[in-house]
Amino acid sequence: MVAIAFAMNLLSLSTPRSASRQAYRWGRRWAAPQVRMSSDQTQGPAPITPDFVTPVEVAGIRLSKPAKAPARSKKWVGLEGLDERTAGSLIPETLQGMEKDEEFQLTAAKLKQMGQKKLTLEEKKIRRRALKDRNLPSFQQHVQEQGIKINRESSTIFQLNIGLFCNQACSHCHVESSPQRKEMVSKEVAERCIEIIKNSPTVKTLDITGGAPELNDHFRYMVEEGRALGLDVIDRCNLTVLQEPGQEDLAEFLAKNKVHVVASLPCYSPKNVNMQRGSGVFDRSIKGLMMLNALGYGQPNSGLKLDLVYNPIGGFLPPEQVALEVKYKEELNEAFGIKFNNLFTITNMPIKRFADFLYRRGELQEYMELLVRNFNTAACSGLMCKDTINVGWDGRVFDCDFNQQLGLGMGTAGTNAGASEKLLAVKEGYSIFDVDSVDDMQTTDIVLESHCYGCTAGNGSSCQGATA
Ligand code: SF4
Ligand code: SF4
Repeated sequence: MVAIAFAMNLLSLSTPRSASRQAYRWGRRWAAPQVRMSSDQTQGPAPITPDFVTPVEVAGIRLSKPAKAPARSKKWVGLEGLDERTAGSLIPETLQGMEKDEEFQLTAAKLKQMGQKKLTLEEKKIRRRALKDRNLPSFQQHVQEQGIKINRESSTIFQLNIGLFCNQACSHCHVESSPQRKEMVSKEVAERCIEIIKNSPTVKTLDITGGAPELNDHFRYMVEEGRALGLDVIDRCNLTVLQEPGQEDLAEFLAKNKVHVVASLPCYSPKNVNMQRGSGVFDRSIKGLMMLNALGYGQPNSGLKLDLVYNPIGGFLPPEQVALEVKYKEELNEAFGIKFNNLFTITNMPIKRFADFLYRRGELQEYMELLVRNFNTAACSGLMCKDTINVGWDGRVFDCDFNQQLGLGMGTAGTNAGASEKLLAVKEGYSIFDVDSVDDMQTTDIVLESHCYGCTAGNGSSCQGATA
């Protein structure tokens, strides 16, 4: 019955007047809905999902309920005076922005009143209710009905969320980072992570995320140890950190260690970047990219990889990744002479600050519906929880960074019948001190919840971009 109701929902929701298409309007340039084709035409057309229509002219997208511009956001005045504008720390500007931002203040007050655990639980209930009210199935039920199995495969990526301190406080941050968050990895946890990686020959990548990972005391230790083990070390860099006082040698350190930089830049337009990431961020991001380019990052045959990350400014799906990469390359090269390797498109997860953003605008239900309607079977095979082990600053282990922020520890899924006897005894979720290698977790069930629809919508989404 539920399957029939769901199918009927899909039919009724796939009309051109679908609610999600009213959720935003295009700005100066209209792009007709596109049918996505695979970049490799020999494979035939890629799966088509109904709302996978966002044009690559992302700078022209305007939200129907405009998000507030950050406090003190100034008009972009070009490259002249960039050095002066980006001198000193961004932190005072970020703190000032947070103080003036009503949404931050409301969230902070709620957090103080309820505590993190209760707030996360309430958020989960709201997401579940959103599905129920629209007669949509839970994620687990839906994949089961489709006959899709989401199991862990060989773990090749060890992702460490090294700490939540950040010099920015972006409005869509799924980890709710800011200069006010002080949680950081300890030396003991950092060393244990390296020990586990040494015991895990399948791990080929050490992916360091945060907060602003570089501002953690043990960031450079992790990088050097990871590189000494021959791993591809990823730094998920916000770019503005390169100009923070005390980080003057950071770009050289990254280049010397051949660290793979994956940097967030949610648009090539100053307005959208500052709106989502805070006043002054566009200037500093451009400066950061120029610094990296000058060291060889993103340049042909340099061996220094620089990838960028796009995520939408509101409740809609990202455009097609390959086409948007072409557009980004064109725009950034023409305006600033900036080069980079690849662009990753990431769907906004309906959790934490972005869930709040949607909820306050009355768009959470609509967004959940959009994700469900655009469920793409082809996106399931590349889900990052299949080949990634995620570790938090306190050493707790998760299936992905999203589950980490929701407190859904690895090993807490249902009966978790596949886990080893030793790990079955761990009831509250594993820590790195419960395991010796990533292989120990190979048979543990993945914790799936309603937010997982964010990874399977449209072209799919992961820390490495689209998955379909
Ligand atoms: S999205 Fe990244 S840069 Fe922005 S606040 Fe969160 S961790 Fe910091
Ligand atoms: S959110 Fe869900 S589907 Fe996505 S990576 Fe995490 S566990 Fe997997």
